[in-house]
Amino acid sequence: MYDFLIIGCGFAGSVLAERLADEGKKILIVDKRNHIAGNAYDYYNKEGILIHKYGPHIFHTNSEDVFKYLSKFTEWRPYEHRVLGSVDGQLVPIPINLTTINKLYGKNLTSDEVVDFLASKAEVRKPVLTSEDVVLNVVGKELYEKFFRGYTKKQWNLDPSDLDASVTARVPTRTNSDDRYFTDSLQAMPKNGYTEMFQKMLSHENIHIMLNTNYKDIVNIIPHKKLIYTGPIDDYFDYKFGKLPYRSIDFKFETLDQEDYQQTGTINYPTSNLYTRITEFKHLTGQKHHKTTIVYEYPTADGDPYYPIPRKENQEIYNQYKKLADETENVYFTGRLGTYKYYNMDQVVAQSLALFRKIIKEEDAAQQ
Ligand code: FAD
Repeated sequence: MYDFLIIGCGFAGSVLAERLADEGKKILIVDKRNHIAGNAYDYYNKEGILIHKYGPHIFHTNSEDVFKYLSKFTEWRPYEHRVLGSVDGQLVPIPINLTTINKLYGKNLTSDEVVDFLASKAEVRKPVLTSEDVVLNVVGKELYEKFFRGYTKKQWNLDPSDLDASVTARVPTRTNSDDRYFTDSLQAMPKNGYTEMFQKMLSHENIHIMLNTNYKDIVNIIPHKKLIYTGPIDDYFDYKFGKLPYRSIDFKFETLDQEDYQQTGTINYPTSNLYTRITEFKHLTGQKHHKTTIVYEYPTADGDPYYPIPRKENQEIYNQYKKLADETENVYFTGRLGTYKYYNMDQVVAQSLALFRKIIKEEDAAQQ
């Protein structure tokens, strides 16, 4: 009899498995894929280059607790991600900053001057409801067209005017020349990769791992007291209220017989090409190798569920599933797919640590 059957070996499932095993609980963790680490899975390709199977994963957080927790399973390599955008035949920093504006407009503005420059371009929108409103409000039509409209259309197959404000609200505009993609206080990559970190997390005598297994094939056979589910919530309930829409990505990897390909980790193509961006892994991992591997990202409607599509009508479908989930005894729904919300890795770790505390509290209360 297992205390917990955990579905999904990504961050959500693995953190809970580790924490609960440490409390003496017997755990079976199951994944339908042939590997652990969920979407953070990385491996050495046949040329010996460390790549991320499900697209570039860059770790960044403001949570010291999350960083301290993960540090039990890995050492870190300091890394701050930088992104350039290919716009008007030039490579300019993304998010838009002082350098971006000066380069694009051939100017030499100071930080104070760029504030006025952007204010002169901005188109005030009230109320701010959509992703288009957010951007027009800050940078105006011209920069919106150059940086946001085409990219958003490719990424989501939706015009920004049809997308929740939250999507572009994630992207800042800076009036200084900070060209880091993220500004979190802690930014680093696991020194030997994510998969090794997960191996350490899951190597506990109380944890059994079962890969290549859809939980539906075993859930009624393997005795367990409670279930933790980190797969898609609509799938759990057999799509009773309809399918929750996701955006997927086709990753095309290319290994080149040259040491370097591009000057920074990622280059975005907001208006040209069918792909959104190209990432060169060696920038992220720091690996030295005489060859290099890059990945092109082609957003698609079909494929693995990656990005929940943040629209009101989808949230309403999710709320129906959530209600049912809350009524389902002895099953916890968590993670990006279990709660239909785009979370970064650190947010999923924080969510799992919080759920762990809740479960322990419940168990303690039940014993009294
Ligand atoms: P997952 O990692 O998806 O794990 C869920 C697991 O459940 C999967 O392995 C799946 O196979 C399994 N599963 C599903 N259904 C079943 C079933 N029926 N039976 C058995 N197993 C099942 N975050 C960052 O912080 N930084 C980044 O740079 C970053 N880049 C990203 C890039 C891309 C392209 C994507 C898609 C995401 C990125 N993220 C990034 C987000 C990050 O991937 C997630 O935060 C994280 O993977 C969520 O972990 P999870 O455990 O919730 O989900």
